[in-house]
Amino acid sequence: MSKGTEQHTYDAIVIGSGISGGWAAKELCDLGVKTLVLERGRNIEHIKDYPTATKGPWEFPHRMQEPLQVIKDNPVISKCYAYGEDTHHFFVKDAEHPYIQEKPFDWIRGYQVGGKSIMWGRACQRWSDFEFSAPQRYGYAVDWPIRYADIAPWYSHVEKFSGICGDKDGLEALPDGDYLPPFDLSCVEADIQKKIHAHYKDRFMVKTRWAHLTKPNQIHLDQGRGQCQARDLCTRGCPFGGYFSSVSSTLPWAKKTGNLTIRPFSVVHSVIYDDKKGKVTGVRIIDTNTKEEIEYYAKVIFLNAACLNTNLILLNSISSRFPNGLGNDNGLLGKFMAFQNYRGSVHGRVEGYEDKYYYGRNPTNPIIANYRNLHKQDTNYLGGFLTFVYSNRGRQYWDPGIGADLKESLSESGPWHAGMYMQGETIPKEHNHVRLSKDKKDPWGIPQLITSVGYDDNDDKMVEDFLTQCAEMLEVAGVKDIEKRDTHQAPGLDIHEMGGCRMGNDPKTSLLNKWNQLHLCNNVYVTDGACMTSTGNQSPSILYMAFAARAANHAAEEMKKGNV
Ligand SMILES: Cc1cc2nc3c(=O)[nH]c(=O)nc-3n(C[C@H](O)[C@H](O)[C@H](O)COP(=O)(O)OP(=O)(O)OC[C@H]3O[C@@H](n4cnc5c(N)ncnc54)[C@H](O)[C@@H]3O)c2cc1C
Ligand code: SF4
Repeated sequence: MSKGTEQHTYDAIVIGSGISGGWAAKELCDLGVKTLVLERGRNIEHIKDYPTATKGPWEFPHRMQEPLQVIKDNPVISKCYAYGEDTHHFFVKDAEHPYIQEKPFDWIRGYQVGGKSIMWGRACQRWSDFEFSAPQRYGYAVDWPIRYADIAPWYSHVEKFSGICGDKDGLEALPDGDYLPPFDLSCVEADIQKKIHAHYKDRFMVKTRWAHLTKPNQIHLDQGRGQCQARDLCTRGCPFGGYFSSVSSTLPWAKKTGNLTIRPFSVVHSVIYDDKKGKVTGVRIIDTNTKEEIEYYAKVIFLNAACLNTNLILLNSISSRFPNGLGNDNGLLGKFMAFQNYRGSVHGRVEGYEDKYYYGRNPTNPIIANYRNLHKQDTNYLGGFLTFVYSNRGRQYWDPGIGADLKESLSESGPWHAGMYMQGETIPKEHNHVRLSKDKKDPWGIPQLITSVGYDDNDDKMVEDFLTQCAEMLEVAGVKDIEKRDTHQAPGLDIHEMGGCRMGNDPKTSLLNKWNQLHLCNNVYVTDGACMTSTGNQSPSILYMAFAARAANHAAEEMKKGNV
């Protein structure tokens, strides 16, 4: 090996430094594996690079609203609820990262060290066996090659380190985890919970399961993180390390082992397959500052660029053995894309708690576990949904009032409101896919991604059921002036896109095996949303973390045995 090649050679390469890449890197480094993390965006250092974290609204030139021109220039990213004058530096600018929407798809991205883990919403429920077995029981997608028991210890592993708060509720559809104490329900939420539990036998509203350090353990203090202060300013980055992100937790931990190298400004172009060796030997990057093409080599490659970019990289990894993309003999790479359905919400006004308030700004929402299509199909659609519940006090933007009246009303706490919003499963379908453009390239010469993903009749039926059920539950709870809303938002805005490189038992119908290795190239692991066989109804990121940790341990073992 020449000196130049040696300097570019590691044991493992992880592509992407977000939620899943951070976990892959942490585990590999803990296991003594020399690891290179390649990240297309700039570096972000915990605390130092959170420029708005402690600012008041009056310290922003536009009181945290983006000017119209910025919104016009960024029609996709500005739709994200977390995007604003206080957070825009963590989101991509639309014009700089073009893609082609064959059907409307709002692709929400954060290109930096830490990825979207800096601005994510932090909801973290476990999947249950209902979800792992649903495709096989109801005949959609393909059967998952694992069940809950396979991943449960890895959920525990990542929960303990990341710090997830929640209760032990003993529900079949929402397995308990290794949780820190939960946030309390507000008085209004506690009342809604009581009334729902009294009225329905099958509906369970539980305290929030969220990645916040409500009561840090030693392992969290060892990461340099502290207790969450309930400020609800998380998407700006938290100087207390109160919530989990790669930059506050996994990456600095990995760095301390001495085994981690992070290379920012490195957009991965493709994975290099050596036809003679019959395996992958490294990756090709473009330095985003110099546009120089550089190669790095390793025994094992982890793809953690987030679902769509992982699909893009694999589709762009062409060799004479794999002319249609790495590991893609069956032609299914990029297909069976799915996402979660966030279209439905219901809200109303609450009376009777005018003498009560809440402590701090709770950054979390309670949850009603899925109650649809568990043991059998009991609706006219497939899949289930999780329901988030919220309550708050104060004026709403639609409340009337102007001038002195408005000023006067702002001196009071205002009325209580309560509502629910959905997180629904969508069914993976072959025609929902992404592919590479044959003629359009991005600024680094990489083919642009074409998204062709849409809703179907099943999704519409689920939204309708959600709206009916939630309006009824709020009515049961005594909520007034109930309004239902279907936003008809485009897929993508849920930011829970999944699939394209799914796991399965059979190489003819799936790309990855039960360890997240490509069936046809076992030194490549995919442990982000691309690996998902179906979407389930839980917030997915904690599952990507568990997959990444499990696969990294598998890869380290396989390296020791000389199998990869
Ligand atoms: C506002 C918001 C709220 C959310 N709320 C929740 C929630 O409550 N619960 C939940 O489970 N999930 C939530 N999510 C989704 C969650 O953020 C993602 O599921 C998660 O970040 C995915 O992890 P990842 O590692 O796959 O991708 P990311 O965290 O996005 O990391 C991918 C990294 O790869 C880098 N990259 C991409 N392409 C390349 C390339 N070619 N070369 C090199 N590097 C590359 C990116 O720059 C990025 O740093 C939310 C997201 C947002 C934005
Ligand atoms: S709510 Fe907690 S995690 Fe969020 S910014 Fe405040 S202290 Fe940090």
